[in-house]
Amino acid sequence: MFRCEGFATPAADQPLSPFSFDRRDVGERDVKIDILYCGVCHSDLHQARNDWQNTVYPCLPGHEIVGRVSAVGPAVTKFKVGDLAGVGCMVASCQNCPNCADGLEQYCDNGFVATYNGVEPQTGGTTFGGYSEAIVVDEGFTLRIPDKLDLAAVAPLLCAGITTYSPLRRWKVGPGQKVGIVGLGGLGHMGVKLAHAMGAHVVLFTTSPNKAEDARRLGADEVIVSTDPSQMDAHANSFDFILDCVAAEHDVNAYLNLLRRDGTMCQVGAPEKPLSVAAFSVIWKRRSFAGSLIGGIAETQEMLDFCAEHGITSDIEMIDIHDIEAAFARMLKSDVKYRFVIDMATLKGATQAA
Ligand code: NAP
Ligand code: ZN
Repeated sequence: MFRCEGFATPAADQPLSPFSFDRRDVGERDVKIDILYCGVCHSDLHQARNDWQNTVYPCLPGHEIVGRVSAVGPAVTKFKVGDLAGVGCMVASCQNCPNCADGLEQYCDNGFVATYNGVEPQTGGTTFGGYSEAIVVDEGFTLRIPDKLDLAAVAPLLCAGITTYSPLRRWKVGPGQKVGIVGLGGLGHMGVKLAHAMGAHVVLFTTSPNKAEDARRLGADEVIVSTDPSQMDAHANSFDFILDCVAAEHDVNAYLNLLRRDGTMCQVGAPEKPLSVAAFSVIWKRRSFAGSLIGGIAETQEMLDFCAEHGITSDIEMIDIHDIEAAFARMLKSDVKYRFVIDMATLKGATQAA
């Protein structure tokens, strides 16, 4: 074991604060990564506040991790000390079930091990995430980071990037298709960039009219203010695919009704309360309402390589880790442009006084 510093919360109603804890030593197949940057996903906020009723405390979030390898186990083949490396939402899975065999570890029949709030198979303890100085991860769940992209802006690709890339690929988004992205936050802005790079006609739905200009700069061909019924009605029965990236309660039927025959709306946003689909929203026009969870490890590597090829990274606001609660508060107000990323250098010494 070695001592590690991070930021964690002891309870749903408590702020994140400096926290010292032990990490396992580097095993046979492990890489140790000194964390340089970690993105702030809305899931971190849901989890810290126990929105999904499954948080184990203390909770140390963070699953958009990039850093430099500082140690490797004897059986590691993909990484050497000094390499850049990334970790997303998963750190292990059973590797035996049909879903793991298909490279879809996120759908592991025995439950993948989440980067935080999971049960670490090597120790039986709770996993702690990327709001910390270092992490030890099996090389099979460690991603190679393209070196020609801005490192801090790559971090959000590890969750926001893959969570939007995977469904866009699954439903074969490409030229000639009209694709809607709902919500211009961390996930949504990656959805806009990626769908644009895949050649689709991209339409952003937003509740924030002041984001329209940014949306066009990011790759949207059209912007619809979703609170204006006349703008919504003008697009009835016209979308091939809609990706819903909204973190709060909202009416999904308003978007389902904009799908053309056989169109699909895919939910990636995960509000705490159930979403309600009216039967006729899908019966008419034989529409589908689907969901998607992050992406497998191989597909995450494919996404990183796609982003390197197309020069795609996240638009970020860098923060000091001491400002994490202020970042959470802004996130709740849909005021993020378009992903907060923690500069982990600001962690140094944070817990020494604690
Ligand atoms: P985020 O940065 O906070 O963005 C969410 C966006 O949703 C906001 O910027 C806002 O965009 C829109 N929005 C907020 N409240 C709304 C409301 N009441 N009605 C309509 N739109 C609203 O969050 P994120 O990090 O992108 O995460 C989004 C959601 O995806 C979260 O629930 C997160 O837990 C989930 N998630 C799921 C997966 C998965 O694997 N499925 C992976 C990661 C995250 P506008 O201002 O443009 O309206
Ligand atoms: Zn996430």
